[in-house]
Amino acid sequence: MPVPRLHPRTIEAVKERADIVDVVGEHVVLKKKGREFVGICPFHDDSKPSMTVSPAKQFYYCFSCGAGGNSIKFLMEFQRQSFGDVVLELARKYQLPVETVEGPQQERLRQQLSRRDKLHRALALAAGWFRGQLRTPVGASALNYLTEKRGLSEVTLESFELGYAPEQWDGLLKHLQQVEGLSAELLEAAGLVVARKGGGGFYDRFRHRVMVPIHDRQGRVIGFGGRSLDGSEPKYLNSPETDVFEKGKHLFGLDRAANAIRKDDRAVVVEGYFDVIALHAAGVTNSVASLGTALSSQQITQICRCSEGKRIVLNFDADGAGVRAANRAIGEVEQLALQGQLELRVLHLPSGKDPDEFLKDHGAGDYRALLDQSPLWLDWQIQQVLEGRDLSQADQFQQAVSGLVALLGKLPQSAVRTHYLQQVAERLSGGQGRLALQLEEDLRQQVKGQRWHGRSSRHEQPGEASQRERSEAEILRLYLHCSNHRAAIRRELRQRELEDFALQHHRLLWAAITDLEETNLGAGRLEAISRGTDSGHDLEDIELPRLLTDQLLLENSALVARLTPLLEPGEVHLAAMAKPLLQLRGTAAALERQKSLKRCRHLLEAWGGQRLETLERCIAALIQEERQQPTESVDMEKRIEAMFEELNSDALRFQELYYSERKHIGHLDQQRCGGFSGQDVIPA
Ligand SMILES: [Zn+2]
Repeated sequence: MPVPRLHPRTIEAVKERADIVDVVGEHVVLKKKGREFVGICPFHDDSKPSMTVSPAKQFYYCFSCGAGGNSIKFLMEFQRQSFGDVVLELARKYQLPVETVEGPQQERLRQQLSRRDKLHRALALAAGWFRGQLRTPVGASALNYLTEKRGLSEVTLESFELGYAPEQWDGLLKHLQQVEGLSAELLEAAGLVVARKGGGGFYDRFRHRVMVPIHDRQGRVIGFGGRSLDGSEPKYLNSPETDVFEKGKHLFGLDRAANAIRKDDRAVVVEGYFDVIALHAAGVTNSVASLGTALSSQQITQICRCSEGKRIVLNFDADGAGVRAANRAIGEVEQLALQGQLELRVLHLPSGKDPDEFLKDHGAGDYRALLDQSPLWLDWQIQQVLEGRDLSQADQFQQAVSGLVALLGKLPQSAVRTHYLQQVAERLSGGQGRLALQLEEDLRQQVKGQRWHGRSSRHEQPGEASQRERSEAEILRLYLHCSNHRAAIRRELRQRELEDFALQHHRLLWAAITDLEETNLGAGRLEAISRGTDSGHDLEDIELPRLLTDQLLLENSALVARLTPLLEPGEVHLAAMAKPLLQLRGTAAALERQKSLKRCRHLLEAWGGQRLETLERCIAALIQEERQQPTESVDMEKRIEAMFEELNSDALRFQELYYSERKHIGHLDQQRCGGFSGQDVIPA
C-alpha cells in the first residue's frame, strides 16, 4: 500500500524521538567507546567494527565504506524501505500521532494503524479471559498442574499472568465475539482462532492447555505459548506469526528481564517458558527464552541492547537437540564473538538437567555459581570435538585434529590462537610434554595452512566477491563462445595461475569443459595446449555450449539454470565479445590483481604475527639464560643480537615479498587500463 504524504510535523516528531543508538542498536550490536558507540557495519563485509554511532550528533558513519546518516537513513538502507515507510514505522513504534497532508488518505492511514491496536486489544482480552478460566472449576486441573507439578507460587502465577484455555471448541471465540464484540476475522488475524476447512466458521486454536502470554518489550501481549495437559501433541503450541508477533525477533521474558540484564550485565538464554518462569521465581531474573525457534542474530541483538558488556550465557539442554541449538546460536554470532564484540558462554547443567529441574533441588546461588564457571563458547566447542572420542585410535584422533584445526583457524588474533593451540596440544598429547610441543607446532602449521588456503573471505574487501564473480563469468563466456581463441585463453589462464575458479558453479563448469575436451583431444594434448607447446587449433571444433547443456541437463539441472547466462548469452553480452582477446586480458589482469591484493594483506598479517613470535622467543630465551648463567652477560648479549638479526632478515624477506607483490599489482593495473596497443600482445 503506498504511504500517503506525511505531514512535516510527523516527520519532525519522528526525527526528534528516534534516537540513533536505539535505532541502529536494534540491528547492530553496539559497544560503548568513549562518548560514542562502535559496531560491525552492516553495509559492507566488515571484519572490524568500522561503524561509529554518535548519540551527540545523532548520526552513524562507517569509516570503511562511507555509509552514514541519521536514523531514518539507516533504516531506509538497512531495510530497503522508502522514506515514508520508515517514518511511519518509527511513528508506530514510538506511538507518535501520524498526520498526512491530504485528508482522505489520513483516514485510511488511521485505520491501518488502529488495526495493530485492535490486535493488541484482542490479545490482551484473551489473556484476561484465560487467567479468569484458571480460577473457575474447569481450570482446576490446570491450576493443580501449575502449583503442584510445577511448584509455582501464587505470586508467580499472577506475575506471569498464567491462564487456562478450556477444553471447548469455541469458549474464547464466543466470549470475545459476544461479550467484547470482536469479529472472528480479527481473532483469526491475532492467531487466536482457526478457520474451519471448507469455510464453516472458526474454532479456538488453544484447547485444554495452560496458557503463557508472550509480551513485547513494551509489555503488550503479542502471542501465547500453550502447554498441553493431557499429553496431546504438540506438547507446546505457540501462536502463529501475526502482524504483531514475529518469532525470530521476540524473546519470552525480555520485557521483565531487561532491567536485571542491565544490572547483572549478563543475560541467560534458556529453551523453555517454564525454565524462565522457574528462574525468575528463584530470583535469577536476567533470563529469557528463545520461543521455540533457534536463537536468531536478531534476538541476540535485542539482548545485547540491554547489556553493556554484551555477556550472554546459553543454557540449553545437554541432549542432541540442545547441543545443535547451541551450535546454531554460536554460528549466528560467531563473527561478533570472534571480534570480541560479545562474550558468549555455554552452560550445561550437571546430569543433563534443565534449569527448571535443577532449581527443584538447588538454590539460585548454586545456579549462579555454575553461570560464573560456564566455559566460553570456543572452549565449549573444543570440548564437544574431543568428547566421546578415543584419542588412542588413529582415525578418531585425526577427526579430532581436523575438527580443532577448523575451529582454531577462525581465530583472528594470534595471541589468542597461541593460547588455544597450547591448550589443545596439551589435551591431545594426554599430558606428555614432548609430544605436546610437537603437536602444537604441527597444529600451528595446519591452522596456518587452513587460514591461508581456506575459502575464508578474511583477506577480501567489500565488492571483491561480486567483482570476482563477474570476471570469472566473463572469461568462461569468452571461452564458450569465441571458440577460435580457446587455446589462447587456456595459455593465459595457465600463465596467470587462474585455472582454479573461486565460485563453485564456475568450477563445476570448467571441470565439465575440461572433461569434454580431454575426451575429444586426450589429456596430454590439452596439457600441451595450456603450456603453449601445441597450437590447439582443433579446440574450436568442439561445440561446447550444446554438449555441455545436454550433459549437464542429465546430471544436474539446477546447475544448468545457474549457468544459462553463460551457455546462452544475451545480445548485450554477445556484442561485448567483439574484441575477445583484449577483453580477456583486462579481465584476467583484474582477477590476478585481486589475488595479489589478498596475498599482500595476508603477508602484512603474517609478518605481524611472526614478529611477535620471534620477540616472544627472544624473551623466553633471555629468561632461561638468566636462570642458568646469571653472571655471564656477554654471551647473552651476543645471543640477543643474533636473534634480532634473524628478526631483521625475516623483515627483509617479508618486505621483498610484499614489494614484489605490489610491483606486480602496478604491472597488472597497466594491463587492465589499456596500457597495451593491440590484440597480438598475448605471448604464445
Ligand atoms: Zn561500512
